[in-house]
Amino acid sequence: MRDENCIFCKLANGDIPTATLYEDEDFRVILDANPASKGHALIIPKEHYANLYELDETLAGKAMVLAKKMVTKLTDVLGCDGYNLVQNNGECAGQTVFHFHLHMIPRYKDDGVGLGWKLNELTDEDREDILSRI
Ligand code: AMP
Ligand code: ZN
Repeated sequence: MRDENCIFCKLANGDIPTATLYEDEDFRVILDANPASKGHALIIPKEHYANLYELDETLAGKAMVLAKKMVTKLTDVLGCDGYNLVQNNGECAGQTVFHFHLHMIPRYKDDGVGLGWKLNELTDEDREDILSRI
């Protein structure tokens, strides 16, 4: 299913031209319009799924296999030193476009890209609470 009000549906299906690195029957891989670093790209399914919760399981697997192939190729092409895969779900997690996408962010030594978070201590209470409910 596609959502006619969704910009990523339009981009993924070629209704709006975009810088495409790769395309197959399930996905389009494009350069992010506001890159965190040179080569920042997005894997976008052609069908509309708002987020990881909704994403078809087979496509979820295919997206990770594709990420592995793209990251391997792009590391060679860009000459970067590492990669972050980032995938946001929900506004509180930083999602701004509500059509599933997987960020592939090349990392260069000392690039200053900020993806960090404050490291907290795992408390006994949280550990026991989570393990007892999973
Ligand atoms: P997120 O915050 O995880 O939802 O990521 C949305 C990403 O989509 C951001 O990195 C935006 O820069 C990117 N983006 C939004 N519109 C476009 C567009 N028209 N073409 C390429 N990237 C886009
Ligand atoms: Zn969509």
